[in-house]
Amino acid sequence: MHLTRPTSLFPLFASVTTLPGIGARLGAIMEKRIGATVLDVLRHAPVGLVDRRARPHLDAVTSGQLITVELLITKHDITPRHLSRPSRILAENETGEVELVFFKADSNFLLRSLPLGERRIISGTAEIFQGRVQIAHPDYIIAPADIAQLPLLEPIYPLSAGLKGKTLRKAIQAAVPKVTPQPEWIDETLMKQKHWPDFASAMAHLHAPETPEALLPEHPVRERLAYDELLANQLALALIRQETALAGKGKPVKGDGRLRAKLATQLPFRLTGAQSRVLDEIYDDQAGDLRMLRLVQGDVGSGKTLVALMAMLNAVETGRQAVLLAPTEILAKQHYKTISTLLEALQIPVGLLVGGAKTKAKTQMLAAMAAGDIPVIIGTHALLTDDVQFADLGLAVVDEQHRFGVKQRMSLSAKGADCDVLVMTATPIPRTLSMTAYGDLQSSIIDEKPPGREDIDTAIISLDRIAEIVEKLRSRLGPNFRAYWICPLVEESDKSDITAAEERFATLQAALPHTNPQLVHGRMKADEKEAVMAQFQSGQSQLLVATTVIEVGVDVPEAGIMIIEHAERFGLAQLHQLRGRVGRGSTKSVCLLAYQGPLSETATARLKIMRETNDGFRLAEEDLRLRGPGEILGQRQSGMPEFAMVDLAAHAHLISYARDAAEKIIAATPTLEGEKADKYRLLLSLFERDNAIKFLASG
Ligand code: ADP
Ligand code: MG
Repeated sequence: MHLTRPTSLFPLFASVTTLPGIGARLGAIMEKRIGATVLDVLRHAPVGLVDRRARPHLDAVTSGQLITVELLITKHDITPRHLSRPSRILAENETGEVELVFFKADSNFLLRSLPLGERRIISGTAEIFQGRVQIAHPDYIIAPADIAQLPLLEPIYPLSAGLKGKTLRKAIQAAVPKVTPQPEWIDETLMKQKHWPDFASAMAHLHAPETPEALLPEHPVRERLAYDELLANQLALALIRQETALAGKGKPVKGDGRLRAKLATQLPFRLTGAQSRVLDEIYDDQAGDLRMLRLVQGDVGSGKTLVALMAMLNAVETGRQAVLLAPTEILAKQHYKTISTLLEALQIPVGLLVGGAKTKAKTQMLAAMAAGDIPVIIGTHALLTDDVQFADLGLAVVDEQHRFGVKQRMSLSAKGADCDVLVMTATPIPRTLSMTAYGDLQSSIIDEKPPGREDIDTAIISLDRIAEIVEKLRSRLGPNFRAYWICPLVEESDKSDITAAEERFATLQAALPHTNPQLVHGRMKADEKEAVMAQFQSGQSQLLVATTVIEVGVDVPEAGIMIIEHAERFGLAQLHQLRGRVGRGSTKSVCLLAYQGPLSETATARLKIMRETNDGFRLAEEDLRLRGPGEILGQRQSGMPEFAMVDLAAHAHLISYARDAAEKIIAATPTLEGEKADKYRLLLSLFERDNAIKFLASG
């Protein structure tokens, strides 16, 4: 299928530097913070509104009120800039008097802009001081003839360092007219029922709010734009489902069970009921005529690896290959270790493929994989590159999927035309979210943990009491009771966070030398990380200071205590993931959430709910409920679709509409070809350009 971008959309996909006031430097900042295109800027919605329409009588003004008044300038009391005493300028109209106050202002500026005996329109925040109205540093001083220059309603945008509000507003106002009327892709009935405006008007209104209500996600303008994104998302997923169904599978996978039986006899435990049930669901899919696309959700420690391995062996029993894709090198290597140990007795070769230089060994490995000599392969993103070929890939497992998006899922399954795909995640996903992120997948849940697991005790403690924590560690740590100390890392490239982690490490090293503390963070080389992890795993080191690289998958049963520093900076899902690294052995484990006050309301709620429950599904629901619009940031790293307008809590009810609508559209025009589907291709190119377009272009 061919997807070309309609010419009417070209201006929207132009660079932000085509907007007035945005040169290369600001363009780079914008690209990082908001997005690279005009469309990205248009999807940057205002979060506030300044309303300058109030023109009250001066005797009725209240403190803190934003007012606009026309005044006659009556008196100057101007002090030179270097003095601390402010300049004061008196002004009046028929309803009273105002004192304009300026600290350290340029006197020439004051004389020029507020000349005695002339009238000026002043807009700013009023205070009542000793019975008189004061405005300190008015926002606007305008001659009556220039009244048109005063913006009566001013949208406020979320700001980021280096971008001024005025600049951003100007750029956005220039971007709005670039949205030309588009054919309507939303169903007429729904439009009417919801009183939604068309796309172009919605964009215009979004950036010209007139009431505080217009800023709420429930407002028809915002709802419509959110629905556009959801519909595009569901349409993309429906296309993928459709494509999968059309492709069929060629070879159903149904092994004779000999490898699986052998593995089962080797295990020191029996599968839990939930593991067996989920495996049955998977085997059914594998044996079926359609390609399997299944999501397995299971809380940390529920035993997903084993489930994956059994499914992989099923494919191997039929002579095909199976691959396990992990999000980090550490995790890939850990899986490799666990799995190659388990498969040793079964005499099944296991390969490991991670990034890095193309060594001779790697070249040999690639050749062996392509020849089909290695039935089980474990690896990272490196598996997705073009030079990786399989002889006959029967199953691809993606572990800890929350780091991968639909796009990567597609490129992986493209490696084997008919290969089954199993996606595993330890982050329980509320139903609403899973419909947007995994609408193309069937779902299984491992809702039971292996027997004998105890809940982890969680405590909330102020970072001021860090000395107490260190003392506690001094007495408790030993080879059989090790600790993780997590320092936050917002971005892998954020130097200051690395420095903070390094400093913390130095302190702990000085305080607890007998525990042989080690430091691991994302900027270290893979072999350095590995060496550190090995020391911790063997017990030579009993204290591992880490940024979030250990977030997923690390399995050290002797680790009994987890300290999360600046816990207030982490999202619930992340906290839960981190906490899941302890509580894997026989001793009771502890998690200390060390926070730096003052805490925001949401942060307090997050920490409290962490203390209350160990149940990942409950945490996931709370996460969605608590996440304010400003806190969706974590989503970006999470592989969840990148919505700009969707507020998942407020717009959840729209998801099933979007899904039904997408199904209908696909039923009517299965490949979205032809004139009738023009508008849907338009919608996709607007909002799903990363996911759907690449997929469609390749398919
Ligand atoms: P996760 O779901 O977090 O990936 P793992 O697969 O890493 O969990 O399993 C966690 C631990 O539980 C591992 O040490 C694994 O060997 C063990 N385990 C898995 N299944 C069972 C079971 N049925 N009974 C007891 N222990 C199990
Ligand atoms: Mg795991």
